[in-house]
Amino acid sequence: MTGVVIAPSILSADFARLGEETRAMADAGADWIHLDVMDGHFVPNITFGPGVVAALRPVTTLTLDVHLMISPVDPYIAAFAESGADVITVHAENGPHLHRSLQAIRALGKKAGVSLNPATHESALQYVLDDIDLILVMSVNPKIRAIREMIGRRAIRLEVDGGVTPLTAPQIVESGADVLVAGSAAFRGGQLCYADNIAALRRAAASAGAIVV
Ligand code: ZN
Repeated sequence: MTGVVIAPSILSADFARLGEETRAMADAGADWIHLDVMDGHFVPNITFGPGVVAALRPVTTLTLDVHLMISPVDPYIAAFAESGADVITVHAENGPHLHRSLQAIRALGKKAGVSLNPATHESALQYVLDDIDLILVMSVNPKIRAIREMIGRRAIRLEVDGGVTPLTAPQIVESGADVLVAGSAAFRGGQLCYADNIAALRRAAASAGAIVV
């Protein structure tokens, strides 16, 4: 597993032109497209559902990295898999059935991720380490290094979502993250700036010694 993945979150895109924005980010050199799904219940905000993921699927061949901040999550996993998501991440806080949710995602042929809210202890990951492809940490926090140690030699990506900028990226990568979700840092300035924004994030990540083993 080499290299740092830059994953712009379309939460920061112009929602009136989501397809065009996604295409522009792909052309600008993004590696994955991150999609934050919120339900107004598990989190206060409401964003979009599997229909939007399905609408964006034909627009790009990039990995669609779907982050489900919804509860309950299990009834919707199949719909997101059918929508064309490549990675589906659920929250450990979603209930007692985390293991079952992760197995359902993999059974549908998708990569399974698990996310932790900042207040959740990383020990919540201990019993699912062999059932996941990705761990998503919300915001820049001291757990990154501890989680990288827990991952050990497993082929699990460690993703940081929130607070990623060219200024913070070196330290995040040094701590062991290898997927950087970027919101305003990727989308600021409009489409003419996207390539420069991605390049700046990539340079910052590389300055930390971007190869994470
Ligand atoms: Zn996210």
